[in-house]
This record gives sequence, C-alpha cells and structure tokens, in this order.
Amino acid sequence: SVFSTPEIESEKVNELSARLLEVTEALKKSNDELRRVQREREEMLSNISHDLRAPLTAIRSAMDCLSLESLTEEERKQYLGTMDRRMKTLENLVADMYYLFCVEDTGKKLDFVKVSAAPFFEEYFIDATTDERYDTKDMQLDLDESLDAEINIDIQKIIRVLDNLFTNAAKYSDDGAMIKLSVVPVNGFLQVSVRDTGMGIPEEDVKNVFGRTFTVSSARTPNSATGSGLGLSIAKAIIERHGGTIDCESKLGEGTCFTFTLPVVTEQQNL
Ligand code: ADP
Repeated sequence: SVFSTPEIESEKVNELSARLLEVTEALKKSNDELRRVQREREEMLSNISHDLRAPLTAIRSAMDCLSLESLTEEERKQYLGTMDRRMKTLENLVADMYYLFCVEDTGKKLDFVKVSAAPFFEEYFIDATTDERYDTKDMQLDLDESLDAEINIDIQKIIRVLDNLFTNAAKYSDDGAMIKLSVVPVNGFLQVSVRDTGMGIPEEDVKNVFGRTFTVSSARTPNSATGSGLGLSIAKAIIERHGGTIDCESKLGEGTCFTFTLPVVTEQQNL
C-alpha cells in the first residue's frame, strides 16, 4: 500500500518468494512421484505382456501339434499336459494381478477385525506344522506366551501374506531346512518374521523382490514353482494397507528373513 515502508515491502516479497519456493518444491516432488508411478506401471505392463506371451505361445504350439493327424496316444497326452500346465500358469497370473489391483484400490474397504495376536499366530503355526508341504522342514515358533497385544487385521489377507512367506521359504530351501516364525512387540508394533535356512537371494536382487517388475531367472526357480512372481508385491500391498512395512534380508547360500510389522491396538483405541 502507499503507506508501507520499503522495509515492510521487501519483507513481504521475501516471504512470498519463500512460499513460492516451497510450493515449487512440493510440486516438483509430486511430479517426480507421478513419474515414478507411471514408469512402474509401464514396466509392469511390459512385463505382464511378456509373462502372458510365453504360456500363450506354448499353448498355441501345443494346439497346432494336437491338430496333426498322425499322433500317437502318448504324444496326444503330452501336448494336452503342456496345455494344462500352461493354462494353470495363465490362470494364476491373471488371478494374482486381479487380487493385487483389488488390494491396492483404496476405495475398496478391507475386512478389519480385532484379534489377539498370540493365539492368531500360534494357530497359524500349528496349522502349518500339520501341512504336508512343510513335512520335511524343521518348523520353529518363537512367540512369548504372555504377549497380550491385539491387532486390527483383515484375517484372510494376513493369512495370505503368511502363506506366501511360508511357501516361499519351503520352495527355496532343501529338506531339513529351518522355517522359523517369530513374533515380538517393538514400539507399538508387532514385528513378525519368517526366517529360513534356504538358498538365499543374491545381494543385488534383494531390493527388487517386492517389485512387481521382478521376474526371477528361471535357473533359480525350482520346476515345481508355478508362482506368478507377484506374491511378494501382493504381500507388500496388504501389509501397507494395514499401516505396516515389510522388509527382506538375505544371504546367498545361508537363508532369508522376511519381516513385517503391524500396528498394535492401543488402549485409547479400545475406549
Ligand atoms: P514367486 O511366485 O516367483 O515365488 P514371489 O513374489 O513370492 O514370487 O517371490 C519373488 C522371488 O523372490 C521368487 O521367485 C524368489 O526368487 C525370491 N524369493 C522369495 N522368497 C524367497 C526365499 N524365502 N528364499 C529365496 N528366494 C526367495
């Protein structure tokens, strides 16, 4: 205004330019984030098309072979077997992709219920020890009986995370390997780890295991593994929607440990 002194004017200008700088920074950050997400989507789409193409090609060529006239019964069975296996791969991939999109859709509510942590994890562990997939493994539980924490979880989703970590621990380890579930309270969170003494993950790959663009070299994947490669992306999305985090530590040839956290229900939330 006409009455303000030059000092006040310049103060205002300084304040305004500081705010402008702040807004510019914030815009730049969200722009970078948008670009990152966009890049991840593009990479995912290109990976998905690649992952879809391999089984489709196999099914197409098995079909072409099946339509040949002079086929022995043996060959016919073999081609049908190939088609069946590759169809399963496709079905798993499509189902996991759909599941991931649903979990990530924050417009869709999860089915949260409050449960006592100790019995929940104990029960899961007992079920696992009677599951034949883990028959040859050394199953261990580290859980303080007096743990009285409660957690708000979507039970089916957390079970899916545990299933993924347990089956991976079994898939990527030999007979006799240890699979250990530990549950400890740390600073208002529960820290849940699934540790194995299996083959481990190369150091340079550890940071990529949760990425949906991560496809493992087939040389490292056992034949029986029919996973879509999206299991850990799904686990991460589920844990993040519970307000927790998930991490991986691994040493090639020694074993792997996945740790996730879940917020503990506080007394105030109980009131
Ligand atoms: P997949 O369906 O391929 O198992 P995941 O997302 O569950 O997909 O895991 C991604 C990759 O991470 C696996 O293919 C495997 O190479 C590696 N991985 C996961 N868990 C373990 C583990 N416990 N030990 C060794 N490698 C693992």
